[in-house]
Amino acid sequence: MTNFTIPIAGVIGNPISQSRSPQLFRHWLKTYNKVGFYIPLHVTEANLENVIRVLPKMGFIGCNVTAPHKVDVLQIADLATDRATLIGAANTLIFRKDGKIHADNTDGYGFIANLKQGAPEWAPSIGPVAVFGAGGAARAVIASLIDIGVQKIYLSNRTRPKAEALKSSFGTKITVVDWVQSGNMLEDSATVVNTTSLGMVGKPEFRVPLDGLQRGTVVTDLVYSPLKTRFLTEAEAAGCIVVDGLGMLLHQAVPGFERWFGIRPDVDVDTRTAVLV
Ligand code: NAP
Repeated sequence: MTNFTIPIAGVIGNPISQSRSPQLFRHWLKTYNKVGFYIPLHVTEANLENVIRVLPKMGFIGCNVTAPHKVDVLQIADLATDRATLIGAANTLIFRKDGKIHADNTDGYGFIANLKQGAPEWAPSIGPVAVFGAGGAARAVIASLIDIGVQKIYLSNRTRPKAEALKSSFGTKITVVDWVQSGNMLEDSATVVNTTSLGMVGKPEFRVPLDGLQRGTVVTDLVYSPLKTRFLTEAEAAGCIVVDGLGMLLHQAVPGFERWFGIRPDVDVDTRTAVLV
């Protein structure tokens, strides 16, 4: 008899069928010849806490969390990393041996890792960053930009009070710009980020005028469906260096895979291909 158990992790969301994480984890498990399972779990808001409490009893060692549960799981968790607390949301839960649920947020890590991989010349010192959007993803992006040393962030959101709330959380490095004037942020920015859902399949197009974009600016979109959004296409035509959002999804999963399956996976061309099929 042996006490060996097969590690099981998963991803919780509502809906969950659109999640690419199962493909991603399956690819890494195969690539690194690891024994384990990664399971998509469709969980409603009403069942969220019960499911999270029962998963460790079923042999799960952790799970990723996607929309709409990222904020709620932080309240359910027993412990949280500083970055998850600062962002106010979690995308990774670790089920500890002592029974405690530990929440982390790796979205900001994924954002920066993707930016550095897609635009190796990018550095926090190259100049101000313009951020469109003030939802959950924007909180993770802004926390990571400040953490890595960016000194000035222009922030614009359709609903201005949400941008003001982010400024209250993150401080004076943020300058809030009205949504109708958001195109004005571009002239002074070395990096531009779309964190809104605009441009995503099934959502309205991103229509902010981009004439202010400077050649050589690093432009990235968190939307990865489609992979090349109109925002990125226009930025590329204006001579910008563009980075799509798929890499953020891949990189944010790295810490979870390493913790659960014992090896730090690479994000390479094969990884991208695996989630795009
Ligand atoms: P969220 O919390 O719902 O925020 C949505 C954001 O989009 C808000 O700023 C919202 O502005 C803005 N928005 C929505 N419709 C708009 C419209 N018609 N006009 C102007 N602004 C509009 O969502 P989230 O979690 O931040 O996610 C945002 C996007 O990032 C999604 O497309 C998501 O798939 C993507 N994402 C990608 C990754 C990745 O790994 N690549 C990770 C996380 C998120 P208001 O505040 O005015 O409503």
